[in-house]
Amino acid sequence: MGANSAHFGTDIKPSDEMVILTEEIISQMHTHASSTYPEECCGLLLGNFENQSKTKRVIEARRMGNVFPKEERYHRYTIDPKEFLVAEEDAESRGLEVVGIYHSHPNAPARPSKFDTDFAWPTLSYVIMEVANSKLVETRSWLLKEDRSEFAPEALITGGNKVVE
Ligand SMILES: [Zn+2]
Repeated sequence: MGANSAHFGTDIKPSDEMVILTEEIISQMHTHASSTYPEECCGLLLGNFENQSKTKRVIEARRMGNVFPKEERYHRYTIDPKEFLVAEEDAESRGLEVVGIYHSHPNAPARPSKFDTDFAWPTLSYVIMEVANSKLVETRSWLLKEDRSEFAPEALITGGNKVVE
C-alpha cells in the first residue's frame, strides 16, 4: 500500500458506520480523479445499504459530469442532475441504490469543505480524494452528522481489510 492507497480505519467494529469498496472501484475513482485534475471530478457510488444503513456495500462507481461553472471547478462540483436521475433509475432497475458520492479535491486535503457540508445529504457516504499533480495523495470517507453541522470520518474498507469483533 503506501501514500497512494485508500485511508483505512483500524479496529473496525460491526456496529461502526462503514463503506465497503473493492480495489477495482477505488482504482476507477482514482483514475477519474487524475483525469479531471486540476478540476474536481464527481460520481456516484451505487450499491446496497446493510446493517440498518450503517454499512454501504458499493457495487459500482459511476462517473458524473461536474456542471459547476468551469472557472470554479478547481474547488467546487455539482453533479449533472440529468445524469444523476438516469443513473438512479438504472441503479433501481438493477436492485441498487445511490449509497454515496465521490469527488476529488485538487491540491486540497481529503476533508469536506464548508461547501461540501452545506450541500450534503445525510445517510450517504462522501468519499473524497486528495489529488496533487494528477496523483492521488489520500482517499477518505465521511458521513454528515445528524444535526448536519459537520462531517464525521467513516471507515473505508476494501477486501484486504478485516472487520473485527
Ligand atoms: Zn469537496
